[in-house]
Amino acid sequence: MSDRSTTASVHTIEQTHTSGVYPKRDLAIVRGEGAYLWDDRGRRYIDCVGGQGAANLGHSHPAIAEAIARQARTLISCPEIFYNDVRARYLAELTAVAPGELNRAFLSNSGAEAIEAALKFARISTGRREIVAAMRGFHGRTMGALSATWNKKYRGPFLPLVPDFIHIPYNNIEALTRAVSDATAAVLLEPVQGEGGVRPADPAFLQAARELCDERGALLILDEIQTGFGRTGRLFALEHYGVNPDILVLAKSIAGGAPMGATLLGPRVGELPRMVHGSTFGGNPLAAAAARAALQVMQEERLPERAERLGRQVMERLRAMDAPLIREVRGLGLMIGIELKIKVGPVLRALQERGVLALPAGATVLRLLPPLVIEQEDMEQVVDAIEEVLAAMRQ
Ligand SMILES: *Cc1c(COP(=O)(O)O)cnc(C)c1O
Repeated sequence: MSDRSTTASVHTIEQTHTSGVYPKRDLAIVRGEGAYLWDDRGRRYIDCVGGQGAANLGHSHPAIAEAIARQARTLISCPEIFYNDVRARYLAELTAVAPGELNRAFLSNSGAEAIEAALKFARISTGRREIVAAMRGFHGRTMGALSATWNKKYRGPFLPLVPDFIHIPYNNIEALTRAVSDATAAVLLEPVQGEGGVRPADPAFLQAARELCDERGALLILDEIQTGFGRTGRLFALEHYGVNPDILVLAKSIAGGAPMGATLLGPRVGELPRMVHGSTFGGNPLAAAAARAALQVMQEERLPERAERLGRQVMERLRAMDAPLIREVRGLGLMIGIELKIKVGPVLRALQERGVLALPAGATVLRLLPPLVIEQEDMEQVVDAIEEVLAAMRQ
C-alpha cells in the first residue's frame, strides 16, 4: 500500500460503498503508534485528533493489543445472561476508581448507547420525564441522545425527537434554577463541553446543578465520554469540581480505543427491574479485557498527571503567542480549544500539510485531543505548526 494508484483506489472504494454521512479528509490512515499516524504513502503525522477522544492511551498500545489478542483466543462473546470472569473483574475495577458511590455499571458499546441507558434509568428510577440539558451540549446521535444534543445541524432532519427535553444556556445558574422542577428526571451536563467548542463548566454552575438536583429530587448525570480517562488532567473531570453525579457516562477511551460504553449508577438509581434494558454485545469479554488493560496503563503510566503538565505548557505557550487571529484559548488538561477569528477549515488543511492532524469544534474553534502519551517535543512541534500556519494566514 505505498504507490499513488493504491491510494486512489482506497479513496474510490470508500467513496463508492460508504454511507456518505461523513465528510472525509483526503487522507487514508493505515497505521498508528503512540501519538503518530501513517498514511498509505508512508507519511507520518503527529495526531491531535486522537481518535476523536478514543485514543488517550496512544494508538495500538502494546498492552491493549496483547489483552485483546489473549482474550480473543479465550472467549469473545458472552451475553449478560451468564456471569463472566473478565467482566466481573472489570466491573469491580471500574467502580473502584469511580468517585462517590457509583458502585454499579451498565456496559454497552458506544457513547450514545451509554447515554441512552442513562436517560432510561433516570426516567424509570424517578418516575419523571423531563431532562434538562445545555445549549451547545453534545451527547450523541441516537434518537434519545440526539434529543439531549443541542445543535440544529444534528437534530433538524430528525424532528420530532423525544419530548420533554429542555435546553438551558450552559454556565447559567439562573436558567438552570428556573428549569429544574419536581417534574425533572435528570440534569445532563458535560463538565467540559467538547463538540460545543471546548468550554469548561464554571465550578459554581456544576455545584448549583448538584444542589438543585438534591433539593428537587432529580438525578445529576455527567457525560464524561470525552472528558474521562485522563483527558483533562484527572482520571475524571468531575475531580476538578468536587461534584459527584448520580449517573456517570463513559465511553471513547474507556477500552484503549476498542468500542465500549459504560453507565455508572449511584444509590439514587434504585434497583432496576429485570429486562428493562439490555444489549447483545454489552459487557462482552473482548471489550472488558481491553478496558481492564486500559485502566491499568492509565494508572501505571500516570497519564492524567501527564495530561495536566503538558496541557498547562501548551496553553501557556498558546496564550503568550503573538497571534492576532487567536480570540481565546480554552481547555483543561490536554483538551484544548483555540477560538479563532477565522474559519477553522483552512487552518486544519494547512496543519495537515505540515504533518499535524487536528479537529474542529464548531466553525471557528481548533480542537486538540492528542493521545496523552504524546512526547513533549511533538506537542511543541504542534504549537510551532499552529504559530506558523496562523502567521501565514495573517498575510
Ligand atoms: C463522542 C461523544 C458522545 C457520543 O459518543 P459516540 O460513541 O460517538 O456515540 C457523547 N457525548 C460526548 C460528550 C461525546 O464527546
